[in-house]
Amino acid sequence: MTSRRASCSCGQFSVVCQGDPVLVSVCHCLACQQRTGSVFAAQARWASERVHIEGRATVWTRTGESGGKATFRFCPTCGATVYYEIDGMPGVIALPVGAFADPGFPPPVFSVYEARKHAWVRMPENIEHMD
Ligand SMILES: [Zn+2]
Ligand SMILES: [Zn+2]
Repeated sequence: MTSRRASCSCGQFSVVCQGDPVLVSVCHCLACQQRTGSVFAAQARWASERVHIEGRATVWTRTGESGGKATFRFCPTCGATVYYEIDGMPGVIALPVGAFADPGFPPPVFSVYEARKHAWVRMPENIEHMD
């Protein structure tokens, strides 16, 4: 079975994921922009029983634009988010695609919060769009 490792920048906090992600998506919401420091976030989801977590994390919970809560785990040393959980999706963890440092990672199939998308950002032609 394929196994992939997501890691923070300094490497002390990582998550090993078994198999392929159940969903890969992109989010343009302002909270994701501020969390990542980028103009959109790309994330992959796995069932929580298919991931193994290693290292120390700091926890922070925020309420998103839609009112849902998300709990983030990030490295206390370098600050990189390695995974997060969303209240409305129990049993699932989401990981920033960039944490895998793998340009061959499966592409996103959903693009959400496009109302917040920067005008210059172009999504792939076959992606599903949601406002
Ligand atoms: Zn780190
Ligand atoms: Zn978002």
